[in-house]
Amino acid sequence: MNVKEIANPRAKAFDEAPPRRVKVLFPLPLFKPYDYLAPPAAILPPGAFVRAPFGPREIIGVVWPGASDEAPPEKLKTIAERIDAPPLAGDLVDFIAWTAGYTMFPLGSVLRMVIRSGDFASPPKMQSGYVLSDVSPRRLTPQRQAVLAAAGAAPRTAADLAARAQVSDAVVRGLASSGGLSKVDLDPDPPFDAPDLSRSGHMLSEDQADGVAVIVQHINRGVHRTILIDGVTGAGKTEVYLEAVAAALAKDPTAQIAILIPEIALTVSFLSRVEERFGAAPAPWHSELTAAARRRTWRRVAEGQARIVVGARSTLFLPYQNLKLIIVDEEHDGAYKQEDGVIYHARDLAVARGAQNEFPVILASATPSLETVVNVDEGRYDAIGLPSRFSGATLPDISLIDMRADPAESGRWLSPPLAAAVSENLSASEQSLLFLNRRGYAPLTLCRRCGHKMTAPNSDTMLVEHRFENRLVCHHTGFSMPKPLACPACNAVDALAPCGPGVERVAEEARMRWPDAAISVLSSDTAPNPRSVRDVLDAMRDGAIDILIATQVAAKGHHFPNLTLVGVVDADLGLAGGDLRAAERTYQLLSQVTGRAGRAEKPGRALLQTYQSEAAVLKALVAGDRDAFLAAEAAGRRALSFPPYGRLAAIILRSRDETALDRAASALRDAAPNGDGVEVLGPARAPIYRLRGEMRMRFLVKARRDVNLQAYLHDWLRRVKSPSSVRRVVDINPYSFL
Ligand code: ADP
Repeated sequence: MNVKEIANPRAKAFDEAPPRRVKVLFPLPLFKPYDYLAPPAAILPPGAFVRAPFGPREIIGVVWPGASDEAPPEKLKTIAERIDAPPLAGDLVDFIAWTAGYTMFPLGSVLRMVIRSGDFASPPKMQSGYVLSDVSPRRLTPQRQAVLAAAGAAPRTAADLAARAQVSDAVVRGLASSGGLSKVDLDPDPPFDAPDLSRSGHMLSEDQADGVAVIVQHINRGVHRTILIDGVTGAGKTEVYLEAVAAALAKDPTAQIAILIPEIALTVSFLSRVEERFGAAPAPWHSELTAAARRRTWRRVAEGQARIVVGARSTLFLPYQNLKLIIVDEEHDGAYKQEDGVIYHARDLAVARGAQNEFPVILASATPSLETVVNVDEGRYDAIGLPSRFSGATLPDISLIDMRADPAESGRWLSPPLAAAVSENLSASEQSLLFLNRRGYAPLTLCRRCGHKMTAPNSDTMLVEHRFENRLVCHHTGFSMPKPLACPACNAVDALAPCGPGVERVAEEARMRWPDAAISVLSSDTAPNPRSVRDVLDAMRDGAIDILIATQVAAKGHHFPNLTLVGVVDADLGLAGGDLRAAERTYQLLSQVTGRAGRAEKPGRALLQTYQSEAAVLKALVAGDRDAFLAAEAAGRRALSFPPYGRLAAIILRSRDETALDRAASALRDAAPNGDGVEVLGPARAPIYRLRGEMRMRFLVKARRDVNLQAYLHDWLRRVKSPSSVRRVVDINPYSFL
């Protein structure tokens, strides 16, 4: 639809009326919308998509609420046309504005997250589809018969029919021209099937039913509440929130629901689970989708047609017409923090969105984040506890192997007790998982002659050896190179030595120790896409693998009935490093991994190799005492006024020009306003100071919980203009300190 079509037919009569001003926001790094004149009689509600001149080009933007009279009308340009796409809902426009204020990123950058994959400007052309006709064609070859058998009442493209019947497209077209098939228009973005609300889920346990009742009460009252479903893996959390989805869909026939999950590899099985419950596949949303699948989901969500959406953190920014419930599964997962572009935490924004629009938000986890636990303790969130595993299986026995007492032999990584446990498992025909959260063969490559460490060019990041490909790879910058024969610093030949283990190196040791066992490695290198991850996990579930050596890809949400031993190769990994959530993350990851054992009939055990057997995290894990761990962690954070007991923000300055960077950092430090309850730390060099040729300095700003941190930062940053050679980024509530 363009302006001509939507214009009032009597538009001429309005020509004399003063032109109306509207604001338009463009999906560009702009902090505000710009004023335009509306074409006569064009209907331009806030949220409508328009094409308008901006600089030398015309680009697509969104009509923004409020109009100003800053510039005289003769200076304003006129909107070219309205785009035929459903306008963004008012609550989404508000949410975009709120997110920009909270994250301190430009309004237009947040809008860009919403519309970037829209492709609404050029809706795809209708395709031709074929259905069975009531004419029977005269000449019926076996090939044509195969096509007729593949065709039905639902239209399919010629290519689809040809593939199904294993014939060429020409056969399909020939059949159509002789009348055996009728040609119809086929929408390239077929609508999603409607969830079938007459289907019911499992009979719920008493705990589950109580939990559902709590959530449904909020749904039916149409009020916001954040509710944590807290229970170990297998306790039946998913079952509970799927009932909440059913209730929200039943209450409002146009309600849309977003289910966020952290791991793309899990979407395939999760989608089928939702499909099983509602008899209709939900709309998927993640980075691995094809462009066509993304467009379909975006358009159908924008029309309000897709009712249940399942996807990664950016699912939060789809153009819902009537969002009524958000579920954040594995709410503690670090994958919800987006570190590129607009920096945000999807769980926190989900809660904010629910609060703004008066609908419940459900968080689920076996190891909830300290932030969430404190919110529950202080009464801001509700909690539903699902104490035991639904399947009735017992939690594994967890014990530590002190590597100082039981060291691995030189050049090996598995201690004698862990190796013995794996051997025992092999003779009992039970499966083992060896967990190491480190990709590749060796995390560090060192010259034995001169001590040179192999790093990425213009970066302070280590190159990780990947022996499978015989390359050195940087996991931060993506740089990779063939492993050189000689040390680039001293030219010594054959002196570059791998230091420390990655999964590939542990696999090498396992193959040596257990040559007859079926051994597989699983990491994002060996399985680069969700499908291939799925294949390995399916093989594990079906018993085709005896020993799986894996990174955290294998830690989440999978069910392996015959897995009875989990060996954690390096339980200390993650405890090091000056990251305030390091211990918490270690606890979460290790409890998830150890929770993989003994999920079904057989009891399981977990053995953790460590050099720090006295660490509080590990002691709490062995004792299965989550509350003790959280209490210790909470006390530590409270003492330092770290989140959730205080607010934290990082300011990162980046530049290729070190002098400009230092100058900008000192200027910023000198301009820091005195704020009651605010402490500015830094500037300090980032732990990875050089990255891809840029140098990075960091400030850390700590504030009391009652301080409006954004207002403070806004006031501060406004005082100093950075030179264009220095980039300045704010990270509210940082998770990464690199
Ligand atoms: P979680 O989300 O806490 O990991 P799930 O909801 O996936 O747990 O439940 C674990 C397993 O138990 C699943 O196979 C699920 O279908 C089954 N389950 C959970 N609740 C019930 C129930 N009330 N009746 C039958 N099976 C259930």
